[in-house]
Amino acid sequence: MQTLIFDLDDTLLDFKGGEVADIKELVQKHAQLSGDALEEALSTYQAINSNLWYQYEMKTIERDTIFKERFPKTLAELKLADQVDAKQMEADYAYLRDHNYRMLDGAKELLQNLHGRYRILAGTNGQEETQLRRLKETGLMPYFDQIFTSEGLGVAKPDALFFEKIFASRPDVDKENTIMIGDGLYSDMLGGQNAGIETIWLNLTQKELPESIHPNRIAHSLQELSEMF
Ligand SMILES: [Mg+2]
Repeated sequence: MQTLIFDLDDTLLDFKGGEVADIKELVQKHAQLSGDALEEALSTYQAINSNLWYQYEMKTIERDTIFKERFPKTLAELKLADQVDAKQMEADYAYLRDHNYRMLDGAKELLQNLHGRYRILAGTNGQEETQLRRLKETGLMPYFDQIFTSEGLGVAKPDALFFEKIFASRPDVDKENTIMIGDGLYSDMLGGQNAGIETIWLNLTQKELPESIHPNRIAHSLQELSEMF
């Protein structure tokens, strides 16, 4: 039986949709911004946050640094550092983020199509308790054979060790018959590449493919992905 390893955030779960709503709610509450200023705060946060995640995936910073720096840096750039408590924002955001139960359109239908015909694993750079709760609350949990998180494994994608630990704990999974599926160019595609397994890139937002990354296949929607199986 073939094994599919699914990334979760922005592959099956709608992390970005939740992030937009949550960050706007936080900025309104803590900085009382609205309209264009609110949009600017959101895009400032998103740029700083994704840069920090990239540095973490490239192993130039520790994971904790992301959570320590993203709100202070955002507030500094918006010239709000003196007026808003960045630590409190991060704490409030942790709660909102952990209770984001949004799915991407077509996620359940995709898993229904694959269930029983493939071994389905999750491989996520997320926190164990949070990701398990989100899978339970969205109703996606029953489709998975096992959930692997970077917190549980002690190593994150794109490190090949992330995948090697999955294979070591699942002797029934054959590396040659495994496909990594995800939206992340570095975490998922480079990660799969590093581990020597097949990859399918989910490119929902028409991103450009860097020359160094070579997914085996590309899907532009979950429906297109579903039709590949
Ligand atoms: Mg993702």
